[in-house]
Amino acid sequence: MNPQEPTTFYAVNAFTGEPLPTAFPVHGEQEVNQAASAAQNVAREFRQLSNAKRASLLCSIASELEVKSEEIVARAHLETALPEARLSGEIGRTANQLRLFAEVVSSGNHHQAIFDTPNPDRQPLPKPDIRRQQIAIGPVAVFGASNFPLAFSTAGGDTASALAAGCPVIVKGHTAHPGTSQLVAECIEAALEKECLPQAIFTLLQGNKRALGQALVTHPKIKGVGFTGSVGGGRALFNLAQQRPEPIPFYGELGAINPTFILPSAIRANASLAEEFVASMTLGCGQFCTKPGVIFVLNSPETQAFIETAQGLIRQQSTATLLTQGIRETYESEVDKRASETGINVTRSEQAEATNVSPVLFVTDSKNWRKNPQWEEEIFGPQSLIVTCEDFDDMLKLSDSLAGSLTATLHATAEDEEQAKQLLPSLEEIAGRLVFNGWPTGVEVGYAMVHGGPYPASTNSASTSVGAEAIHRWLRPVAYQALPESLLPDSLKASNPLGIQRAIDGRVSQ
Ligand code: NAP
Repeated sequence: MNPQEPTTFYAVNAFTGEPLPTAFPVHGEQEVNQAASAAQNVAREFRQLSNAKRASLLCSIASELEVKSEEIVARAHLETALPEARLSGEIGRTANQLRLFAEVVSSGNHHQAIFDTPNPDRQPLPKPDIRRQQIAIGPVAVFGASNFPLAFSTAGGDTASALAAGCPVIVKGHTAHPGTSQLVAECIEAALEKECLPQAIFTLLQGNKRALGQALVTHPKIKGVGFTGSVGGGRALFNLAQQRPEPIPFYGELGAINPTFILPSAIRANASLAEEFVASMTLGCGQFCTKPGVIFVLNSPETQAFIETAQGLIRQQSTATLLTQGIRETYESEVDKRASETGINVTRSEQAEATNVSPVLFVTDSKNWRKNPQWEEEIFGPQSLIVTCEDFDDMLKLSDSLAGSLTATLHATAEDEEQAKQLLPSLEEIAGRLVFNGWPTGVEVGYAMVHGGPYPASTNSASTSVGAEAIHRWLRPVAYQALPESLLPDSLKASNPLGIQRAIDGRVSQ
């Protein structure tokens, strides 16, 4: 690090823009080296730890978070301007997520044990005994997002799933909430101590220089990266991960417009549809990666009424404080730019004061949408765009032309079933999660959830960053050929000492 540069930085009060007390260290290459070497030194011991012990660690972290929840919520509120009730809910979600991964690890299903029964008499060649399981990939770097300072940050889904898999974790703390990150890291450190496990299993690095994240992604001892954030930042770090002498998996959960298709019968059937839409697009001040950013509707009298109701609701919205000054400035400049383009109608809420922004609803038609491919880019904040299509054929063609998204939503009734059937294959191809007659903003943490999708929603469309399946990002398969029982890992022993589910010759058995 340049000796002229400051060695500490301060968190910012999101409401006032003023620095908050407590200085945080600016970590750099030296700290990345130390943390990555220490993580590598404990990686084997940690991946070979029993499932029960790893589950216990995850539960201990959850309990520590709950004990410290008041302090964490108070600090996160100042750093992010998110309401305390929402942050308390996020503590619950983060703790539940950790406990879900404890359940996943306890079940042993993550080993994905598969057996091919040998056949020494097979002609022309004997069939060997092959057994396969998954093992942890090694130390993982995690970048949390600004908009979920708990559930997608220091002890969020990436950290929980990586620890569950048996990977040591190094978190690059987000500059928008360093105090929150520090408090959460202390909970993880306390849990490691309580479980008598090495502290090197988890490290938080902080700093306001992009060089820190870049050093982490390119460090030879880092074997995988979990990233939640912007398309620009995620793509830059993804490229670095692929350009390494040893490229590594990079799971980036990036931006999405979450297209929503509304068929006329749904507008007739649901009198509060416009209200629900505005509530979803302004939830968390529009700072949800699952915000419905573009709504496709058919040109009809009921659609016109839907649009006018939504515009009326937008005019009544309060102004909003966004997470950071940078996010506010980007939101304002992108909204102003879009508002100045031709063929787009703009409705704003009341005039925003200094540090707040106005929710905005744009309306255009499919002709202008096609002429302006830049409107397919996410604007992070309380803004959405309604596109009126000439007819269903026009809507169908547009659905086929969209880039990847985290979600795709369809509003329809039995009356439109034929049209719904025609839209669904297109929506499956662009999104990780399809929502029917609902709104995409909430993301349930469970066994079946998929939070991902084709690029730019994520950099790896074959994975999810939320839910039990997220653990598989940090595991890789190993096949064992002809190993004697005494040398096989427990998950593959004929005696099945872990009591886990295994697949034998393509059939699942106990
Ligand atoms: P961000 O600005 O990309 O920051 C994310 C993290 O990456 C931060 O730690 C940031 O460092 C770091 N970073 C960004 N660019 C970098 C670069 N070029 N080199 C090194 N480090 C870099 O994103 P954000 O503001 O936290 O989050 C908002 C965005 O995230 C929105 O677009 C939203 O849709 C998306 N998001 C996606 C999901 C999802 O699951 N798909 C969930 C939540 C949010 P600094 O701390 O130094 O800025």
